[in-house]
Amino acid sequence: MGISMYPDDGRDVDTLLKKADMARFEAKNTYEKIVFFTEQMESYIAENTLFTNRLFNSLENEEFFLEFQPQISCDTGKTIGIEALLRWTSDGERRVSPDRFIPILEQTGLICDVGLWVLKQAIQEHIRLVAKGLPPLRIAVNLSIVQLQRENFVYDFVKIIEESGISPKYIELEITESSFFENPKDIIEKIRKLKKLGVTIAIDDFGKGYSSLNRLKSVPFDRIKIDKEIIDYMDFEGKEAPITKSIILLAKAYSANITVEGVETKEQADFLKSMSCNEIQGFYFSKPLSSKLLEDFLKNESCRYCPVN
Ligand code: C2E
Ligand code: CA
Ligand code: CA
Repeated sequence: MGISMYPDDGRDVDTLLKKADMARFEAKNTYEKIVFFTEQMESYIAENTLFTNRLFNSLENEEFFLEFQPQISCDTGKTIGIEALLRWTSDGERRVSPDRFIPILEQTGLICDVGLWVLKQAIQEHIRLVAKGLPPLRIAVNLSIVQLQRENFVYDFVKIIEESGISPKYIELEITESSFFENPKDIIEKIRKLKKLGVTIAIDDFGKGYSSLNRLKSVPFDRIKIDKEIIDYMDFEGKEAPITKSIILLAKAYSANITVEGVETKEQADFLKSMSCNEIQGFYFSKPLSSKLLEDFLKNESCRYCPVN
């Protein structure tokens, strides 16, 4: 229920109803029973409207771009994959957080076209790096449930992958556990088709919030990405980190590869290596990088491993 108060929020019925409606909208989104109208709510909703209007033209106006975050192998210490992360500047310069604009892309369905664009760009980056003489990297692309629910989803993805000429084994799709809450049979069927082509599947944000381990039982996946929340918990738990350890052991029970996200310190990285995790992604190694900075990062990395003359 949304509530607005006379006279602070307005002195006429129309204004009070409009503001109560905004509070009701907030209540619906946050699952709170009662929400009172606040000024911040008004500016947030105004900004939402502005962003929504702009996002309808953002692909055409070339306002999106990607950054890439290296995924480092614990065995070799080298980059083995990169995660493509979507970026948006709403007015030519001001960056808006993905956590703010991606839900709008999802609500409007725009994520479907933008998601195809992300896949194409990520493939191009892979091809570009190989052309520069760098070793081929696996590229990870995030998938929204809205994309997965679309009927043409598999057809569109397969078409882009086949037309690009990339070997599908270099493509990984990141999906969250919550994607299987609704109509899991349909989603699993689509994933099977993509896996048949040769792409790999990662379960993103593992351990974050509510986990439905039972649902994962029937999902064909190759990797589990353990969420930053679990790694942050390590600092709170101290050296032995029993909860973090048990989540890693739980992930291992699925016999999948394990990537740990949000690793920021050497202590965390050393602990995760000692737990035989496969890969690490986080600011400790690198923040998400522009195309140019990624290339420099990879070149420096191969130099680090060059024998010194
Ligand atoms: P995600 O898939 O969990 O991506 C990892 C997020 O963690 C990224 O945030 C990355 O910058 C951040 N991160 C990585 N390492 C560290 C670290 O060591 N410390 C901290 N504090 N953060 C770290 P970002 O780029 O803001 O993306 C947020 C979310 O937006 C992503 O979370 C993903 O759910 C979504 N997203 C990004 N790009 C796309 C996309 O192309 N499609 C879809 N559907 N979602 C996307
Ligand atoms: Ca991800
Ligand atoms: Ca994640």
